[in-house]
Amino acid sequence: MDTADSLRRFVFEKEEIRGSIVRLDKTWQQLAAADNYPPKVRPMLGEALAATALLGRNLKFDGNLTLQIQGGVHVRLLVLQCDNDLRMRGLAQFGDDLPDSFTELVDGSSLCVTVETTSHESKRYQSIVPLSEVSLAESLGHYYRQSVQLPTFFMLAADEQRAAGLMLQVMPERKGGSGRWKRLVADLEGLDVSRISQLDESVLLSAMFPEDDIRLFNSEPVCFHCDCSEERIEAMLQLLGADELDELLNSQNPVEICCEFCNAKYLFPGERIQRIRAEVMATAGKPLH
Ligand SMILES: [Zn+2]
Repeated sequence: MDTADSLRRFVFEKEEIRGSIVRLDKTWQQLAAADNYPPKVRPMLGEALAATALLGRNLKFDGNLTLQIQGGVHVRLLVLQCDNDLRMRGLAQFGDDLPDSFTELVDGSSLCVTVETTSHESKRYQSIVPLSEVSLAESLGHYYRQSVQLPTFFMLAADEQRAAGLMLQVMPERKGGSGRWKRLVADLEGLDVSRISQLDESVLLSAMFPEDDIRLFNSEPVCFHCDCSEERIEAMLQLLGADELDELLNSQNPVEICCEFCNAKYLFPGERIQRIRAEVMATAGKPLH
């Protein structure tokens, strides 16, 4: 089996239905290695990674898609990003004493999907929905029905080695959903999700949809990539304000900032922090003390 991280789109030749399958080994392992994620958080993070690749593939312009689960007590923040070249990064922040079920883990959280263009005229679109379903896959299906009003079905699975996902969607011209769609989803609901990460794509599709002619497109590579840079970290430091910069400088010199997404380390000598502080003060217009 091909273990390279990739996404493959497919269409049903005789139905107005399209889909994608994604399998992520290295991308997922690299992302998971950036922090010591507890076993209760890992499946959800892996599933969210697979889902974000599936959603990100639909970007029609240069930009990126961010999936966020936020505002809860247990999983405080989960962020996954994918750009139009299928380069991904992500992280999760969580509390202690985590519950077992997805519903409890995301209690009080909302699911937020943001699409941003990176072209000269930057644009941003965001949809927020409460997370109330029993799984991330169901929550995303619900999100799609609400925001895009297209019947969409997700299957997501993640273990230590691999994060995988399958997405099926009625094409926009057939919003109502054909009879075939309802039967298809009913069949899929009983399937063991781990199959999507184990079988070769063409074998999997013919096993799942034996009655249908399916055209499978070439695989598209997906990889882990963090676009952090010294400039971006400096921009973040500028947002801190003079007091926090002082505190930072008192605690360490040079100041070491570690990117939360990829663990890259950036060293800022004391003089540079002083210069940033001076700039912050100048822009603020008046001294704070
Ligand atoms: Zn980074």
